[in-house]
Amino acid sequence: MEILRDLKVEVSEADVLRRQGRPRQAGPPSAYVNKLITETIKEGYELVRPQSLYDEMGASLNEQGKVVLSNGTVLDIPHVRREWAGLEMVTLAICTIGPLLEERSSQLFAQGDAATALILDTVGSAAVGSVARQVDALICRRTQARGMNAGPRFEPGSTGWDIRDQRVLFSFLPAQEIGVNLNEYFLMIPRKSVSFMMGMGSEVTESKLRRPCYYCERLDCPSREVAEVAL
Ligand code: SF4
Repeated sequence: MEILRDLKVEVSEADVLRRQGRPRQAGPPSAYVNKLITETIKEGYELVRPQSLYDEMGASLNEQGKVVLSNGTVLDIPHVRREWAGLEMVTLAICTIGPLLEERSSQLFAQGDAATALILDTVGSAAVGSVARQVDALICRRTQARGMNAGPRFEPGSTGWDIRDQRVLFSFLPAQEIGVNLNEYFLMIPRKSVSFMMGMGSEVTESKLRRPCYYCERLDCPSREVAEVAL
């Protein structure tokens, strides 16, 4: 198990606008909105405490295309029969930016500044997405250095994977060490956290489509990072 704390968060104005559902064809926002977003991103940077922890375990695919972990747990994760073919191991990871940003966002709401609160909340979503991409890239590089490939990552609760399988990740990873807990609805606290699993193996095909959104049918999701869907 490794804990990563030296993680950079990168959030752009365009990222925030996209996550807020602003269509590309709408053109640039007003100078006022742009300034508000830039200043809120700056405040967001002060409030993020990026951390991640990950570990790996042996795994294989059974005849039904389900993931069988070395401890006997069987997981039904859509798409892995094709995307993790040749599975030998999985990496389980949890990433977070900590609670400060969402606490500040709640405070702004309570003070009646809903616009800034919403933008800050979006900055938080973009920030934790940025952390997850970095951890994904790091695991990929380390996997390749060991002569294996890493398939795309999948997240419990997205792309058709049952959110209740969060229990599996949280039973295996000491998430409290980075301050993340699971509530009774299998949601992570702090909310700006991401958990995922990535399949690895020498026969696994390296995926260029590393974003879980590529496999997700929620085309209207404001946080969507790609336009197309792989089915
Ligand atoms: S489209 Fe939305 S729900 Fe689906 S994987 Fe992407 S961020 Fe998650």
